[in-house]
Amino acid sequence: MIANSLIENDRAHWIHPVASWRKHEDRGATVLQSGKGVFLTDIEGNTLLDGFAGLWCVNVGYGHDSIVDVATEQMRRLPYATGYFHFGSEPAIELATKLAERAPGDLNHVYFSLGGSDAVDSVVRLVRYYYNITKRPEKKHMIALERGYHGSSSTGSGLTAIPSFHAGFDVPTPMQHHIPCPYPYRTDYESDAELIAASVQHLKDKVAEIGADKVAAFFAEPVVGSGGVIVPPKGWLTAMQAACRELDILFITDEVITGFGRTGPLFAAEHEGLEPDFMTVAKGLTSGYAPMGALFMSDRIYQAIAEATPYGTPIGHGMTYSGHPVSAAVGLEVLRLYEEGGIIANGQKSGDYFATKLAGLLDHPLVGDVRSQGLLAGVELVTCKKDKTRPDAALDVPDRLAKIGYDNGLIFRAFGDGIVGFAPPLCITTDEVDLMMQRFERSLDDLLEVKEIRDAV
Ligand code: PMP
Repeated sequence: MIANSLIENDRAHWIHPVASWRKHEDRGATVLQSGKGVFLTDIEGNTLLDGFAGLWCVNVGYGHDSIVDVATEQMRRLPYATGYFHFGSEPAIELATKLAERAPGDLNHVYFSLGGSDAVDSVVRLVRYYYNITKRPEKKHMIALERGYHGSSSTGSGLTAIPSFHAGFDVPTPMQHHIPCPYPYRTDYESDAELIAASVQHLKDKVAEIGADKVAAFFAEPVVGSGGVIVPPKGWLTAMQAACRELDILFITDEVITGFGRTGPLFAAEHEGLEPDFMTVAKGLTSGYAPMGALFMSDRIYQAIAEATPYGTPIGHGMTYSGHPVSAAVGLEVLRLYEEGGIIANGQKSGDYFATKLAGLLDHPLVGDVRSQGLLAGVELVTCKKDKTRPDAALDVPDRLAKIGYDNGLIFRAFGDGIVGFAPPLCITTDEVDLMMQRFERSLDDLLEVKEIRDAV
């Protein structure tokens, strides 16, 4: 009864993010109620293994009382302090310091946002400001990857290259461009080296097409996330960074998903010793216990902006909740759990185990490709392995599989193009990885029992 009225009220009043409104009205909301470790319970009393950490964010897992305690204590002591007008709070300063100490290269300056989209959007604004104030105002164009995701803010969504985020929203703007994403499973190149060289060439060609002196920056996720969990070949990021330096454009990594142990190390930049000019994070920063994101800026850019801006003139970028003390206190405790609590180390161990289990999925008639880095994985379903045929979009395969998965007690994410993704909490044990994979394999078998799917294979 209660559940029914909740679902009715949801239908009537809540506009859900990234949903087909009519489809949502038809199927109704799946209402989650509580969580512990890697498990969630919904309002019907079903227990689910959360193979997607909420929205790839609850990296420490659910139910950490120590996080609740620091948030409660901070709310009691000082629920809010602005960062405007030279004010600040202890947790925000302490968090900025700890993050800067751990960030790659000379990313020593942190601006706090509310999440990933406004971290990216803040980078876009500050890059423009940087080139204007340092008297190179022609450098305005930005390049990102096809299939990339960089949020849904009004300008930043133009860097995203997922069709539903563009259609009808008047983005990309004329100054936003995209080059092909390196996609090892679907490439004609024979080797990783050739694929990397082709990517570098795409960037160079795009810069030449726009005009070498007009391009400001190249943005990339270290692993393309929402575009289908596509892991680039090792060395790709290093080659793109080198090309950016050669082309005199900023190299910007978006670690909103990959940050905070998702791919193994604290930041994915560590796999290749990258030194980006800007980096964005969110999600794992607070593990979803409170909203917060951040951008990191290099010393060079910080100093250039500070020097060129007339003394006393405020740099007009900020939000009421930038550096929110409760979120910052949560971020500090989450960081402690990652490090002293051993959650990053556990994620690395379980990530290695997960990779071996994923490889076993390739025996399944529906699985064309598996790819992963740490506890971030994509599984690509095909109806013909030899030709790598994508399932007909009308069959709605990923969404159907996710629904079957839910009925089998497992949450994972459905993307387009026959792809599903995993990003379980980093506290997952190897036994829980086994359970996750058993439930997934059972769901694949159940999907194959559906006549339309069997007929298509
Ligand atoms: N960048 C990347 C790489 C993301 O995956 C996301 C969110 N999935 C964003 C930016 C936007 O973050 P948010 O949803 O917190 O605004």
